[in-house]
Amino acid sequence: MLPISTLCAPVSDAPDLFQNENEALEKARAIHAAADADADDYRQSLAELIGHYERLMRETRRLIGRSDRAEREMQALAQQLAHRATHDALTGVFNRSAVIERTTKVLRHDSAVMIILDIDEFKRVNDDFGHPAGDAVIMGIVECLRRIVGERGFIGRVGGEEFTVLLPAHEPAEALRQAEKMREAIGRHVFASPVDRRVTASFGVSANPPGTDFDTAYGFADAALYRAKRGGRNRVEFANP
Ligand code: GH3
Ligand code: MG
Ligand code: MG
Repeated sequence: MLPISTLCAPVSDAPDLFQNENEALEKARAIHAAADADADDYRQSLAELIGHYERLMRETRRLIGRSDRAEREMQALAQQLAHRATHDALTGVFNRSAVIERTTKVLRHDSAVMIILDIDEFKRVNDDFGHPAGDAVIMGIVECLRRIVGERGFIGRVGGEEFTVLLPAHEPAEALRQAEKMREAIGRHVFASPVDRRVTASFGVSANPPGTDFDTAYGFADAALYRAKRGGRNRVEFANP
């Protein structure tokens, strides 16, 4: 908020916001300086000053309230912007750049398993039921992933119908069990109308020691995903670097 002194200073050419208050103040000063002012003059001047003082306090409270509200709105907007910069608008999971940043950070000091999954024959879902139905399938798949991943790791959308799950400090065998659970959950999931068919996904998994860079971790998992697709889809393949 602007300091009161700034608010009180008359701006050249602009009407004086505090003309009434300044007049009352001038009058009070004159009465204070006059040796012959009597009690009635004092009383009347004081009443005027009280009126103006009370009005200024009400206005100040209102301005402080308004500036507090504006500050809260700014904070909420800044949070929204930060969220948008790192999250996918459709599903709410991390976007590609956030996945790269977070994975790189984890792998600097810890081992981590990276799971990549890609929806099988997804183009046909769009072709048969339309793009909005395809979007609903993507959201349903993310729901399946969320239920399994929980707080164990984080989910990201790295491409249109391709997702990553990073599981820090997981043994490969346990991570493969998790990927298998995800594959089964997606295969069982009943998608809302008009999608009247089961949808599956293929998985590639890489286990990465501390110090691995993102491209290497992703590259191994992607190679395994490619094998899962070639091997008939709806399966989990592991890449052993
Ligand atoms: P594959 O089993 O080999 O992965 O086959 P596919 O059909 O899933 O693969 P392809 O790469 O041929 O098609 C992917 C499709 O995903 C094409 C694209 O239109 C669709 N897609 C990508 N992003 C979105 C999205 O945000 N919403 C919808 N509805 N479709 C998307
Ligand atoms: Mg794809
Ligand atoms: Mg696909």
